[in-house]
Amino acid sequence: MSLLGLTLAGLLQVASVSLQPGVARPGDAVLVTVLGVSRTPSGTLGSQTLDFLPVADGFQALVALSVEASLGARALSVDLVPDDGAETTITGELVIEDPRWPRRELKVARKFTSPSKAERLRSARDQKAFDEAFDADLEPWLFAADFVWPRPPEITAPFGDLRLMNGKKKSQHFGVDLDGNTGDPIVAANDGEVVMVRDCFGSGNTVLVHHGGRLFTAYFHLSKFEVKDGQRVKAGQLLGKVGKTGRVTGPHLHFGVKLDGRWVDPESVLELRFFERPGAPAPPLKPDAG
Ligand SMILES: [Zn+2]
Repeated sequence: MSLLGLTLAGLLQVASVSLQPGVARPGDAVLVTVLGVSRTPSGTLGSQTLDFLPVADGFQALVALSVEASLGARALSVDLVPDDGAETTITGELVIEDPRWPRRELKVARKFTSPSKAERLRSARDQKAFDEAFDADLEPWLFAADFVWPRPPEITAPFGDLRLMNGKKKSQHFGVDLDGNTGDPIVAANDGEVVMVRDCFGSGNTVLVHHGGRLFTAYFHLSKFEVKDGQRVKAGQLLGKVGKTGRVTGPHLHFGVKLDGRWVDPESVLELRFFERPGAPAPPLKPDAG
């Protein structure tokens, strides 16, 4: 976490802006935290507008960097009004480094590279269902703790892999694949609301969870569902079981994170510390619920 600016306003009020991660890659989620203000700040990261949401002690905005984001420094600018001070602008920069995404050859069943008309229609209906599930208002976050892995983080394919399928059609991997056997548990990465439970052509049995703030997690290729559409879930709650439904060669969990209409690297979201404050003592450990 990098602390970008510090404005002292009186003896007790301190306004601060911090940025995570310190160095980003294309496809990352970036978190801007503004503390010590009670009026909603505004700002930009490069050409992207920061949509600040209220949190207990300030405001936070998440930005999805495009996988096509140019490398180098990107300007951050935040306009804020300290509680007993004059409006001020705090600036900083985010460095975006080369992700060096690997390229790999994939072998998949012919029906996925040359789908029939019926299969194309089915894919189009699936896409419509995804679009409807992702069409949410910018409401405050539904979670109060950092994100957790839905499976032990044994990553068999990272985000961003450039894929050549059967020697042609190129695509990119917009999630991480987590190891697992059919029937192994998959849990919610954070508190939220289930917004889609659907058998899809490509992603197989699919669960989407909205965590507020147009931030969603996606769980693909399940063998079994353990939740229903519209259900509220807590972090760590069972969503379903690992499987190999849809466009896959073996059982695993494809875990995706969608932010503001863009797939971002789930690892970047797992690394964000939403509730840690620079300079603040570590929060007390939660008593073990047993
Ligand atoms: Zn995958």
